[in-house]
Amino acid sequence: MKAIEAREVVLSFGETPALRGASVSVAPGEIVAIMGPSGSGKSTLLHCLAGILVPDAGEIHFDGRRIDTLNEHERSVLRRDQFGFVFQFGQLVPELTAQENVALPLLLGGVKRAAALKAARPWFERLGLAGLEQRRSGELSGGQAQRVALARGLVARPGALFADEPTGALDSLTGEQVMDLLVTSAREEGTTVVLVTHDARVAAYADRQVIVRDGKVNALVHS
Ligand code: ADP
Ligand code: ADP
Repeated sequence: MKAIEAREVVLSFGETPALRGASVSVAPGEIVAIMGPSGSGKSTLLHCLAGILVPDAGEIHFDGRRIDTLNEHERSVLRRDQFGFVFQFGQLVPELTAQENVALPLLLGGVKRAAALKAARPWFERLGLAGLEQRRSGELSGGQAQRVALARGLVARPGALFADEPTGALDSLTGEQVMDLLVTSAREEGTTVVLVTHDARVAAYADRQVIVRDGKVNALVHS
């Protein structure tokens, strides 16, 4: 299980400050929800933790290793080999089958097609998707697509899963089902999770909630 830490992270988009000294520590295997008002810097913080954005100042550490000083290529290898991602709108490839979508991170990591498809298969049972393996992703319901996206985020057994509004496009019942599966699967896999959400009911599934305001992490709430 892998720890994630941001120390005094500062990041501006041109003249717009997004993070003004944001610090957060996520323990190995912990599930942390980042909450806060729109525009407060939640997504930017998530993108820094996930090695997508590089801070102007401060440090990001993953599994005891400083990652904000890596170059673009090193960060893309880190993301491919160590991180899983789930976005608000699943971002599946609509022409591919559900099983092919789940297999994608493995294919990108160099696993052969047959082995990647085989590794994808058990996720359909685990996430209540059995029978949908060959369905084109564009023909899935919102909740089904988001569960496929979750399977894709976890299939390569990442050290960390980053989720930006993973239930934001779903009605609340479907969203709670997806969160329940996300938390159960992450615990089974020992995956550290950082998720961004506006929804207090979604955040309640996390071990801990972190509030971002004006680019700083300024309150901690235990759920
Ligand atoms: P949140 O996720 O809390 O809604 P964001 O991290 O998306 O907040 O944004 C923080 C601030 O940075 C906002 O003022 C937003 O408009 C700005 N911002 C975010 N991304 C960009 C970008 N790519 N270019 C310019 N400004 C951005
Ligand atoms: P969220 O709902 O998670 O806060 P947004 O809808 O604010 O996300 O942002 C979606 C994408 O647009 C992000 O990649 C963010 O970096 C970018 N973005 C946000 N604000 C701006 C902005 N003012 N200018 C340019 N890009 C932005």
